[in-house]
Amino acid sequence: MAYDDTNIFARILRGEVPCDKVYEDEHVLAFNDINAQTPVHVLVVPKGRYVSMDDFAANAPDEEIVAFVRAVGKIARDQGVAESGYRFLSNHGEDGRQEVPHFHVHLFGGRRLGRMITPIAQ
Ligand code: AMP
Repeated sequence: MAYDDTNIFARILRGEVPCDKVYEDEHVLAFNDINAQTPVHVLVVPKGRYVSMDDFAANAPDEEIVAFVRAVGKIARDQGVAESGYRFLSNHGEDGRQEVPHFHVHLFGGRRLGRMITPIAQ
């Protein structure tokens, strides 16, 4: 799948659309989800043009992957959930119900999160 420069996170990264920023460095931008599911719900986004987790894992330079993982850990500590606990999750592709085609991780915390996956009828 080719990267779509019109996706909402690309527009946020270009500064065309505002966001509620919580963290930024050379490789990463993080902002609060517009439709927060938990008291802490941050989206962590690499600045590079990666469609999905699959694209990022296969094609990002090591430096960007390391920076991304370090940033997720720091953001969780800064948000005050490293002690109480959190979940980070990335939806990939159709079965994963990925809506925005720019790789991102959801960081959830601030309350008990329940089971990892909600069972659904097949
Ligand atoms: P998904 O691609 O399924 O992992 O989810 C995309 C997430 O992006 C959803 O949780 C949306 O609420 C969130 N989202 C969409 N547009 C914006 C925006 N402009 N600012 C912040 N979060 C957004």
